[in-house]
Amino acid sequence: MNKFWSETVQRTEPYVPGEQLDDPTIIKLNTNENPYPPSPKVTDAISRELDHKLNLYPSPTTDQLRNEIATYHNLSKDHVFVGNGSDEVLAFSFMAFFEPGKPIRFPAISYSFYPVYAKLFNIPYEEIILNRDFTLPVEDFFQSEGGVIFPNPNAPTSVYLELSGVIDILENNPNQIVIIDEAYIDFATESAASLIHTYENLLIVQTMSKSRSLAGLRVGFAMGNPNLIEALIRIKDSFNSYTLDRLAIAGAEAAIKDTDYFTDTIEKVIHTREWVTAEMKQRGFHVLPSQTNFIFACHYNWIAEDLYTNLKKDGILVRHFKKPSIDNYLRVTIGTDENMEDFFKKLDKIMNTTKSRN
Ligand SMILES: *Cc1c(COP(=O)(O)O)cnc(C)c1O
Repeated sequence: MNKFWSETVQRTEPYVPGEQLDDPTIIKLNTNENPYPPSPKVTDAISRELDHKLNLYPSPTTDQLRNEIATYHNLSKDHVFVGNGSDEVLAFSFMAFFEPGKPIRFPAISYSFYPVYAKLFNIPYEEIILNRDFTLPVEDFFQSEGGVIFPNPNAPTSVYLELSGVIDILENNPNQIVIIDEAYIDFATESAASLIHTYENLLIVQTMSKSRSLAGLRVGFAMGNPNLIEALIRIKDSFNSYTLDRLAIAGAEAAIKDTDYFTDTIEKVIHTREWVTAEMKQRGFHVLPSQTNFIFACHYNWIAEDLYTNLKKDGILVRHFKKPSIDNYLRVTIGTDENMEDFFKKLDKIMNTTKSRN
């Protein structure tokens, strides 16, 4: 604390991202990055952009990228907003749609950036306790005073809520915004994007960080009724005219257009996820049904934090949350088959040489 700090700075509790270690020998299964590189067309597009024009500002309206995203989702440009990672899009959405004095709701086990934004923007919030099986208690989100936000599939649980549940929440919040953070939707059954024309209170946020292998480029986007998109644009233009640089715009356009590469990558990750889930269950882990590129698993005879620590010593980084009710779970990002074989080798060694709780 410092006497020069504003009220705002004093009440912030910044988000702590997963560890990013420099050691290239470490297998990183802790921040849900895609193990596959982006489409070669992305790197080509970035190189072409790099060859010239960096002396010029990028497009302040990002029309072309918004058009490409809209086309992919059967929408028009006016339904799409883009930002510097979906984290920025989420922050702008908190500013645009949530208000001090009106409590918003999100799941108690969820993306830990939500309470950070809420504190930053002085928005009160209610954390909704999940059902025992980590599914969303849909009715507890009805008639919220200030709005609703939740990831679908949820993180870090990996559990997906069917569209019928999403519709129930939308219909029971007719005068409040419902933000659905679809960071992992490309690994799941179905996006709520088709509901945008029906529900003017729906805002969907997606990212290119996970399914499109572009965590390093920082591109996220929102989709919703043009009135909502206009609100986001007003916030952005009151803050920074150019949130996306030329390289990010060029790379993101190429990524969204290369549907073959995208479909291929998704299939590979899902295939590995199903194999990893079966292998974990064989070792006695309880694994939540995942519709993401990670699994959330616990073993009744092993302390998750010990497994995390021992795996880290062996060069495998997974994520452990010191949070009551999930502190015996590990979140493991799906890597390549080779990554996961290595993971199981180390895990088996640990389980064979250390003591379980019984
Ligand atoms: C990864 C993630 C994000 C952030 O993605 P970026 O686009 O990289 O900022 C947002 N929400 C959830 C639930 C995530 O897991």
